[in-house]
Amino acid sequence: MESIGEQSTGHHFIHQRIAEDCAAGRYEGRVHTRFPPEPNGYLHIGHAASICLNFGMAEAFGGLCNLRFDDTNPIRETSEYAESIMEDIRWLGFDWGDRLFYASDYFEQLYQLALELVRAGKAFVCDLSIDEIRAHRGTLTEPGRESPYRDRSIEENLALFQGMRAGDFPDGSKVLRARIDMGSPNLNLRDPVMYRISRARHHRTGDSWPIYPMYDWAHGQSDSIEGITHSICTMEFEDHRPLYDWFIEQLGIHHPRQIEFARRNLSYTVMSKRHLLRLVEEGHVAGWDDPRMPTLSGMRRRGYPSGGVREFCERIGVGRRENTVDISLLEHCIRQDLEGRALRYMGVLNPIKVVIENYPEGAEEELEGPLHPTDSSFGSRVLPFSRELYIEATDFMEDPPRKFFRLGPGREVRLRYGYFITSKDVVKDPDTGAVVELRCTYDPDTRGGQAPDGRKVKGTIHWVSARHAQTVEVRLYDRLFSVSDPTDVPEGGSFLDHINPDSLTVIHCPVEPALRTLEAGAVIQFERQGYFCVDREDSRPGAPVFNRTVTLRDSWKGGAGGEKA
Ligand code: ATP
Ligand code: MG
Repeated sequence: MESIGEQSTGHHFIHQRIAEDCAAGRYEGRVHTRFPPEPNGYLHIGHAASICLNFGMAEAFGGLCNLRFDDTNPIRETSEYAESIMEDIRWLGFDWGDRLFYASDYFEQLYQLALELVRAGKAFVCDLSIDEIRAHRGTLTEPGRESPYRDRSIEENLALFQGMRAGDFPDGSKVLRARIDMGSPNLNLRDPVMYRISRARHHRTGDSWPIYPMYDWAHGQSDSIEGITHSICTMEFEDHRPLYDWFIEQLGIHHPRQIEFARRNLSYTVMSKRHLLRLVEEGHVAGWDDPRMPTLSGMRRRGYPSGGVREFCERIGVGRRENTVDISLLEHCIRQDLEGRALRYMGVLNPIKVVIENYPEGAEEELEGPLHPTDSSFGSRVLPFSRELYIEATDFMEDPPRKFFRLGPGREVRLRYGYFITSKDVVKDPDTGAVVELRCTYDPDTRGGQAPDGRKVKGTIHWVSARHAQTVEVRLYDRLFSVSDPTDVPEGGSFLDHINPDSLTVIHCPVEPALRTLEAGAVIQFERQGYFCVDREDSRPGAPVFNRTVTLRDSWKGGAGGEKA
């Protein structure tokens, strides 16, 4: 791990810096953070890392964490997004108490602060178009050129800015700019735009503001207004910090400490909102909460427990170098979380019929199986048994190799919580030659899975009674992309070229009858197959639809997962 001093305290560098501030009595030992999303999309797993960090630091230091929507761009923002963001944060297990804020609540305060800068000669109204401003801006190697409007008098600037606020000028005709330094090596300090004129309707303030603050102007002042002590943000804001500091110093208002950390990416998926929006809008997925999406709503629908997601965020750690985390670590954390508490059932994904020739026709009995293999407190469920069963077609081979411990001609296996059965004969499709039915016998003395003569079998397979089974829809989800970095495409290519064509397979399969009573959202294990979640949207009472949450095969290679090259 690269984090400074990681070895000495076991804490990441942000934790350490906050601890240092507290020890030094900075901010009177107060810790107050915030999570500041723009309500212009659904939250994804990268945001979860930021949420865990901000709320986690507040918790660790006995402080507070606000939720603030940085809603300064009305064109892309909606209250639907804001609602979904709140639901996701609650689901993750965090609580902002009564501290839900919106940058738009500060529009008047921000306007007053801007007037202060104008009065101090630190901001001016500029009539250049956005394109002209860009052309004047210079490059990393060349200084910018000053605007011809830069030396307007304070009185003129005041009148013009008040006119902008009053709606006297058309959209895009003027901006308010900070008056800093067009020769600064930091482009963010070259007289950045603070306000633009736009008649866009805002989802909270409606039509009351014909001007909107730029993010860079609103963000730092909003943190200051809220008394935030530690403004944790991602690395791209490192170069904006001098600007944020400049605003705050000119105004002489409360000065939070900004600390940057690197974004986390995840393999086999995309994380940019632009890409996610495209997946949704072009119908490559069924919506923001499609279980294949890296969104928190997608993960919730897929059955990922929030505890597993939080554990993942903990394990990827906090660093200053951007990196991509292996998605198998996330899947590993999900399995670990579910292992101890998901109830076990049997369902046959790829069924083949078995007829037990020596079991009386029309007879049936009730067997019993525990709902969890190691925790008896979960109790058990009834497993009806009869002459005709389904087992997994892949649990039989006509010509099995030696290491295949399941069914083959003449071989004996254990039916989970049932009897020993022996394969006697097969029925084939006369046209294709494919095996379509197995004819077996059972040993009535092995009820419950033990032979009184101590005879052993190597294999145990899952099954359901054909007559009692319920057929349900099962959605087998796989990774959405077939390559680790879908955005790595040649000229003219698109990340969409890498969509995994098999990311969703819908099947209908027999499952044991006890599953009928599961509630929407419940996550269970189909023994030997994986974890599955009862879909919240499409399940009906008595007719669950199952989403595969994750398979049982764990491909995680170990390690912490954070700062791997
Ligand atoms: P954009 O600003 O382009 O709309 P964003 O991903 O930055 O997209 P925000 O709503 O601004 O979205 O993000 C809220 C917070 O989450 C920000 O503080 C941001 O830095 C943090 N964040 C976003 N993506 C990641 C990520 N992949 N890893 C860690 N933190 C992230
Ligand atoms: Mg952002």
